[in-house]
Amino acid sequence: MESFQALPPLILKVHFYDARPDQLPQNHPFLTETECLNAIAELNKNYNAFNIFFKYDGLDYFENDEFYEIITIQNRTAFTNYLYDNDLYIAGASNVYSVTDINFSSSYQAFGGYGGGVFSLIGCKYDLIDNIDYPYVLTHETGHMFSLKHTFYDGPENDPGTKIENVARVGEDNFNADTHGDKIIDTYATPLSYSRTNCAYTDSLQDPVGRYYSDYPPQAKNYMSYAHGCQEEFTPGQVSVMRAYITLVDGLEGVTAIINNDVDILYQPYKGEYFLAGPLPVDENGHLNPPLFQYGFDYVFYDTSQAGVYNQPSSWDITNFWYGGITNSYDVNYATPITHPNHTAFKILQIDANNPRMCYNNFNKAPSGGTIIKFLDNVLNTNVTITAQDSTSINNPNLINNLDAGLYNIIENYDDGSSQETMIFKENN
Ligand SMILES: [Zn+2]
Repeated sequence: MESFQALPPLILKVHFYDARPDQLPQNHPFLTETECLNAIAELNKNYNAFNIFFKYDGLDYFENDEFYEIITIQNRTAFTNYLYDNDLYIAGASNVYSVTDINFSSSYQAFGGYGGGVFSLIGCKYDLIDNIDYPYVLTHETGHMFSLKHTFYDGPENDPGTKIENVARVGEDNFNADTHGDKIIDTYATPLSYSRTNCAYTDSLQDPVGRYYSDYPPQAKNYMSYAHGCQEEFTPGQVSVMRAYITLVDGLEGVTAIINNDVDILYQPYKGEYFLAGPLPVDENGHLNPPLFQYGFDYVFYDTSQAGVYNQPSSWDITNFWYGGITNSYDVNYATPITHPNHTAFKILQIDANNPRMCYNNFNKAPSGGTIIKFLDNVLNTNVTITAQDSTSINNPNLINNLDAGLYNIIENYDDGSSQETMIFKENN
């Protein structure tokens, strides 16, 4: 499994759509950005070990009385065509559709559009997109999107059974795992249903040639099984197939279902805008609109206050700027959108544990006020004088020149609520 870490990263976008009725109320709550971000974090936790990454691409909704409520086996093609005809998909992203119910399964994956495979579609019951009791659902459907089949045989009832995988493994009599079942050798033959205890096979069933499944017990913990509550892993064979399929489909003419992106998109905010100069950026409602990053990775931010000026973040491939100590960090389980403070650069440890990137060192931003703390004993203790500064005095270019010799903490406050502290030891002029 560790060997996948040495392979190139594969970076996919995921876009969400909330299907709503023409008239309110609808039968399911509106899908929220937080639910989508939680789902993306879950996908990343389950796939990052294989160097497969997911970027949150946004949340939209559409209104349609025919499809918001229930997707059936009978209308799923009509649903797909409706999405295609109305441009309700993002080319190059996995598109996840939240509906009230799906009556043949709780969720499904399909390739949509005419000619097959134009865009990818994951239909999902609304409360399975972010549900602690069903955390594997999107991971399972995404496995299908990357061409994985179920680990059990689920062919039509009238199939003569020739596609059922035998228990035999490589080199044994009746081996057919390379051509039957999911055609992946390290997922063992699995009956459609079986009894289990603590996610372990405990049944006495036999395969079509009379061999006991218990010889190679079915893997209930596999994401592509239907063993509810057990699914938590892929096999190396499945990961190899998924990576090969992504690479195969990526770039095929006319197919946008799966497109591999450059790694730098993970270092771009999923929404918001970096301050360049002038007033702080705001959204359409007039609210402050800082750049926000999806959680679910390990982020580490570094001080770049002594680096050159980067009034917008440096490009991803630049790593030769000055940086100092760690200013903040967030682990993979932190679950609130992450901001990029001025005068910092950051690592995403799952991508690159060596280099902080995206140096944001903006010197256009003027503080609106601040505080000067003078340490009277020239050491960090509580013997201080504190002087409030208005916007004129804190922005005075001679602020430091005019200070008496000594040790100071200069705190600059900004309109967006952030502040910058600078310790200085002023020598005699
Ligand atoms: Zn499935």
